[in-house]
Amino acid sequence: MTDTYRLGIDLGGTKIESILLDPRGNAMHRERVSTPRGGDDEYEGIRNAVFQLILKTLDLAPATAACTIGVGIPGMVHPETHRVSNANTTSLIGKPLKADLEKLLGRPVVLENDANCFTLSEAVGGAAKEYDFVFGMILGTGCGGGICHNRKIIKGRHRIAGEWGHFPVDPLGVNCWCGNTGCIETKLSGTGVANAYERLFHEKITLEEIVRRYRAGDAKSTAIFEQFLEDFGRCVGGLISTMDPDAIVIGGGVSNIDELFTLGVERVEKYAFHDHITTPILKNQLGDSSGVYGAAWIGV
Ligand SMILES: [Zn+2]
Repeated sequence: MTDTYRLGIDLGGTKIESILLDPRGNAMHRERVSTPRGGDDEYEGIRNAVFQLILKTLDLAPATAACTIGVGIPGMVHPETHRVSNANTTSLIGKPLKADLEKLLGRPVVLENDANCFTLSEAVGGAAKEYDFVFGMILGTGCGGGICHNRKIIKGRHRIAGEWGHFPVDPLGVNCWCGNTGCIETKLSGTGVANAYERLFHEKITLEEIVRRYRAGDAKSTAIFEQFLEDFGRCVGGLISTMDPDAIVIGGGVSNIDELFTLGVERVEKYAFHDHITTPILKNQLGDSSGVYGAAWIGV
C-alpha cells in the first residue's frame, strides 16, 4: 500500500472539496466547488458534482497507481440499508449515495460521517497525532463527535460511536430538534448558547458577540458564558470519566474561544469523577481542512 494515492471528498452544505494525497501523505491538489442546492433534483445535482470532482481529481494521480476514494458526508450511512441518514443536507436522506457513486465510477468508495473524518484527521496528522485513543468533538452550529483508536475510526454497533451531542443531560432544559429535552447540543453548540442568551435577555446575538461582551465585562454575557463553561465542564468531565481517552481534540467554531482551553478545562477538572485529571484537551490543528484530509484517510 506504500504506493497508494488517496483521494478525499468533503461534502458540506455549502461546498464540496477534494484533495489528492501522494503515497507520502502530501497534498498534491485541492479544489472546491459550490454544493448544488435547491430544486427537486438537488440530490442528483450533488451526486453529479461529487462524481465530476472525483473524476477530475483521479486524473491527476498516475494512471498506473492505486488510489483509494473516501467521501465525508454531513450524516451517516445506515448500516443496514446503506442509504444516507441523519443528514442536515436533507436531500441526501434515504439516498443510496455510496452505491450511486460506485456505479458511476466502477470502483469502491468509502463514505463516512464528517465528525469521524474530523477525528481521524486530527488523530493521524493533527493535534492528537501523538495519542492512540482520541475523542474528537465538533462544537459548531451543532455538536458531533467521533472516536479513533490506533488511527482507526471506532464505528459502534449502530455506526454512531462518539455521537454525544444528543445525550439528554437536563430534563428541565429546552427542547432539542431531535425530540429530546436538554441535549448536550442545546448547551454546548454555538447555536445553543446564542439561543440561551436570547431566551433570557430577548436579544439575538451570536456566541462570538457574547464572548466579546464577556471579555469586556458585560454582566449578561458573563452570566451566559459562565453557564456555558459549567456545562462544558460537566459534559466533558462526564465524558472523561466514562471513556478516559488519551486526548480530546475540539473543532468547529466554538473551538476558536481561547477560554475553553483555560477556564473550560478548569471546570472539566472540577466535574470529572476522578482527581488529577490530566487529559489533554486540544484545539484542532487542521481547521477547515480536517474534513477533507479525514475523508482521504478513510479510503481503503
Ligand atoms: Zn437532541
